[in-house]
Amino acid sequence: MADLDEFRRETRAWLEANAPASMRTPLGEHEEPCWGGRKARYDNPDVKRWLDVMAARGWTAPTWPTAYGGGGLGRDEARVLSQELAALRLRPPLVGFGLTMIGPTLLQLGTEELKRTHLPPIVRGEVRWCQGYSEPGAGSDLASLQTRAVLDGDHFVVTGQKVWTSYADQADWMFLLVRTDPTAPKHEGISFLLMDMTSPGVSVKPIKLISGYSPFCETFLDNVRVPRTQVMGEVNKGWGVAKALLGHERTMIADIGKGFGGETRTRTAVQLARDYLGPREGAIADPAIRHRLAQVEIDQRCLDWTLARSRDEAKAGHAPGPETSIFKYYGTELNKRRRELMVSILGPQALGWEGDGFDSEELEITREWLRSRGNSIEGGTSEIQLNIIAKRVLGLPD
Ligand SMILES: Cc1cc2nc3c(=O)[nH]c(=O)nc-3n(C[C@H](O)[C@H](O)[C@H](O)COP(=O)(O)OP(=O)(O)OC[C@H]3O[C@@H](n4cnc5c(N)ncnc54)[C@H](O)[C@@H]3O)c2cc1C
Repeated sequence: MADLDEFRRETRAWLEANAPASMRTPLGEHEEPCWGGRKARYDNPDVKRWLDVMAARGWTAPTWPTAYGGGGLGRDEARVLSQELAALRLRPPLVGFGLTMIGPTLLQLGTEELKRTHLPPIVRGEVRWCQGYSEPGAGSDLASLQTRAVLDGDHFVVTGQKVWTSYADQADWMFLLVRTDPTAPKHEGISFLLMDMTSPGVSVKPIKLISGYSPFCETFLDNVRVPRTQVMGEVNKGWGVAKALLGHERTMIADIGKGFGGETRTRTAVQLARDYLGPREGAIADPAIRHRLAQVEIDQRCLDWTLARSRDEAKAGHAPGPETSIFKYYGTELNKRRRELMVSILGPQALGWEGDGFDSEELEITREWLRSRGNSIEGGTSEIQLNIIAKRVLGLPD
């Protein structure tokens, strides 16, 4: 315990000395968190400085082994680090699918060579990853995917199309599922590949949303040559790798309310209710809103504690299983409830999309509410999570 107290003191002192002041402020209206990668632009040089100092200590991936550039921290130390980052209200130095999806899967299932090749550039924020799972006709029924990969010497030649690839236009590498044996049963004959997005034959077309914003892309693959060394797991046995990765993805998405400032936002919801609805006898005036606020806060804490327990188990070597579907389902539905509550508190002030008459916080709350709808679709819809919970957690018959 004394060691941990010492670690806390040192960590706080180091963070205070090394974190640029502007990294202690919330993200501005048009600012994104730092995703890194070769295409990253650092309009604020502090973002890059903060990334570099944290990466040099391996603290962008605090629990990954130092051999792969990580921080090598134990569970308790990692918890202290995240508490100290939160106490100083510091921005995460780096976010992305490398840290939350492909990195943990590589640590779990990758060969030594793949780990040494891919993990250090993720820690340093040099490479940004995207996810090539969904295809036209293969969303919930992912194993229906048709993108083919045919072995030619020491390369796979990949042909097909992916869709809803978030940020493919910003990414340097993609992890993707391909069909390597079209004659095998649906869940067999699939392989898991790691592909350089600069390979000849890869083209990316952003999908523009009604908002004008375009986080999604279509990705076309035309005879793309991927070295055989970039297969993760065994050829034709990629479905197991795909499911392991989905476990990490679902836990990450369940936590997304927090990633977007969930805890602060819940507090902000209370603050908002005070400001928009006013107090009565020291309490928030509207009893229905008061009740909803209390319920969301209680449910969020229960989820946080359950997630923390699961994270501890993962760090102790128990890979997440089908119970991640419970987190994904509950976390994203709770996130929707929280955003709906905030919109209810704002009343007509939540009706804006742009323009005068709405302040930037009001516009942001409306956008976050809309974004939360996609949250219960990405990584597998709520209906699909309920199917998995019924079959694989509760053991109910088909
Ligand atoms: C914000 C966002 C980001 C995304 N990012 C990526 C990405 O980076 N990479 C990627 O590969 N994909 C990505 N996706 C795609 C996502 O994984 C798919 O949208 C999702 O798996 C659902 O597939 P679908 O859209 O084809 O819907 P469908 O499978 O066509 O489903 C339509 C509806 O039918 C329901 N349904 C389908 N089958 C069943 C069933 N058996 N039982 C009950 N109900 C069922 C579904 O729940 C849904 O409501 C993203 C999606 C979103 C919204």
